[in-house]
Amino acid sequence: YSDIYAAWWHRALTIAAVIGMLAAAFIGLSFAFGVQLRHRMRAESELAMLARTDGLTGLHNRRTLGEILDQEWRRARRNSSMFSLLFVDIDRFKAYNDTYGHQAGDAVLATVARCIANNIRRPEDSAARYGGEEFIVVLPDTTLDGGALIAENIREAVFELAIAHTGSEFGCITVSIGCAAWVPGKDLDVQEVLRSADKALYGAKMTGRNKVVLSSAPAA
Ligand code: GH3
Ligand code: MG
Ligand code: MG
Repeated sequence: YSDIYAAWWHRALTIAAVIGMLAAAFIGLSFAFGVQLRHRMRAESELAMLARTDGLTGLHNRRTLGEILDQEWRRARRNSSMFSLLFVDIDRFKAYNDTYGHQAGDAVLATVARCIANNIRRPEDSAARYGGEEFIVVLPDTTLDGGALIAENIREAVFELAIAHTGSEFGCITVSIGCAAWVPGKDLDVQEVLRSADKALYGAKMTGRNKVVLSSAPAA
């Protein structure tokens, strides 16, 4: 009997060893796979973030702005809440590039962008680079007065940076801001708010720059 027993034990131990090794290999592979997966997911979310961001300023890019505008416009319509939008444009920026060079211009863009970001406080507020030296600030659930206050804060903050600009009538980098506030109506498109803020911005440019103009204010 003991011979049979010994043979049986031998077999049992061999099988146990093989299963143990398979289990260890499985655990090892799972772990390696998990690490790999985490790596990949992080890389993917980084890529997704980059695709939504403007490379120079770190603000939202134009594509993301479109998504935000659609989403916030729909939300404002659901809640019948007021929706404010700022159109920010750097004054005499072509002259700045011509005088100080494109690289210095890029640095100013990044600095002004940071200034804008620092002056919006609520988590639902967002700032985006609209184009060259133009920025859009979206302020959901904000009245014209609220929008005007934030616009004025941004204008003042940029002015106080006191970045020398000999080609400017103010001697430093300044921004002009158009502000529009609307409650979404049925047949209103968010693009009209953009146009309205742009018109106000044009007013700010025509009346001296380094100022905030509100879209519903009588033509100043
Ligand atoms: P205004 O006060 O009327 O706004 O005059 P402006 O010169 O700022 O406006 P304009 O639209 O004539 O010129 C915009 C300039 O912005 C043109 C270009 O030199 C500069 N610009 C646009 N994009 C960039 C950029 O990515 N980097 C740099 N450095 N400059 C840019
Ligand atoms: Mg411009
Ligand atoms: Mg400009």
